[in-house]
Order: sequence, then C-alpha cells, then structure tokens
Amino acid sequence: MVSDLESFLPMASAIGRAIDLLHENKEKIRPFGINDLWLVRDCPRKAWYKMQSSRAITNYSQLKRIGNINNEIKRNVKTDLFGIGLTVKNQGKEVIALDPETGLMISGRADGILDNLEALNMGSKDHLLSISSCGERNEFTSLKEKGFEHWHLKHRIQVSIIAHLLKLTRIIVIVESRNDSQRYYERVKIDKILARRTLERCFTIMKMSCAPEKRKCQSCHQWEVKCCEYREECW
Ligand code: SF4
Repeated sequence: MVSDLESFLPMASAIGRAIDLLHENKEKIRPFGINDLWLVRDCPRKAWYKMQSSRAITNYSQLKRIGNINNEIKRNVKTDLFGIGLTVKNQGKEVIALDPETGLMISGRADGILDNLEALNMGSKDHLLSISSCGERNEFTSLKEKGFEHWHLKHRIQVSIIAHLLKLTRIIVIVESRNDSQRYYERVKIDKILARRTLERCFTIMKMSCAPEKRKCQSCHQWEVKCCEYREECW
C-alpha cells in the first residue's frame, strides 16, 4: 500500500504541474492531432510547420464534404453493428497523450469500444473500433489484397496510438469504399512499438524551437514540393 502511494504521488504531481502549465500557456500550447501524427514519420519538418501553423486549411469545403460522408458512414456502420447484437460504448471518447514536463498535448477521438464480442467467438476483451472510408478504387483494392497492416502507415499509426492510449490491445478495423459502399473488416493487434516511438518523436519535434533538418524532399524540384502547403517556409 505504501509503495503504491509512493509511486502515485510523483505521477500526480507531474500531472498537476502539466495542468498548471496548460492554464498558464493556454494561448501558446495547442494540442497536436493524432490524425496528423503520421507526418512525424513522413516528413518531420512538415510536422513541425504544422504544429506552429494556425493557417486555415486551403480546401476546407472539400474536407468538410468528406467529413460529412465519413460521419454518415460511421453512423450506418454502428447501426449495422447494433443490428447484429453488438453495442459500441465510449463513442467519440477523447484520448490525450501529455508531456508532464511541458504540458504539451497530443489528442484525438476514438470511434468507440466494442466490449461484447463473445457472440462472434472473439473472446471477452474490449476492442477499439475504427471506422474510416476510402475514395479511390485502387486504394480499396490494395487494402483487400494487402491487408490493413501493409496498407497506409497513416491509418496504422492513428489506430495504434488511440488503442495504446486507451490501454487496448486489439482493434476492429472497418473501411467502407465511398464508390460502391463495399466494406472491409479486419481484426488487428496494435503495434505498441510504433505507437510509443511515434509519440516520443512527436514530443521531441514539438519541443524544437526551429524546423528539424530532416526533410522528406531531397531537392526543391521534387514533385512533392509542389503539393506541400509549407513549401515556401521549407525552401
Ligand atoms: S516541401 Fe517537402 S521537405 Fe519541405 S516540408 Fe514539405 S514535404 Fe517536407
């Protein structure tokens, strides 16, 4: 009991310090979204620019349209799961990774947690539910052929980190094609190492006072530069 208390007190004071820092620096410290965490691995420099930027998203109307379609797909999938006797708890639950020294935060939301999978012979453990959509036919075909683990790093990072922060080890992934409403289902294990290392890298980049040297593009003539919203700052 004493040792529990001894380990709890330093942790509680670190969290308290982080909360104080957050209050003091409300304007300066902005949380970084889990959806953007893959940038930490794709181009650390771009991730840093995004952390600093309060620039409006250029193609907001297109993103909003896709967001609305995604929400509709999520609602339909949850209704269908309910129809086969599965309930989704903790829908939209916020997950947060906090750096106690600085008060820096990485945050995101879970689609929900499935807790009664015994009916499908999947044991009694809670599973994170991840629902997303895919607009490109080739992308959806590639998902069906390769499986989720070898599909997009972006999605793997996102779900692994949300599951890791919720202390879950399994995920039910559902991806719906926006072209023909076909659905892809897979039960995957979280990649704990990927989740932990990506969070560490993200906090390291967040603490940097200038953009990291490491660039994805080796030259300013690469095609990726033309598509990058931070090309002017970068080159
Ligand atoms: S231009 Fe290339 S290297 Fe620079 S931030 Fe964009 S993706 Fe990264």
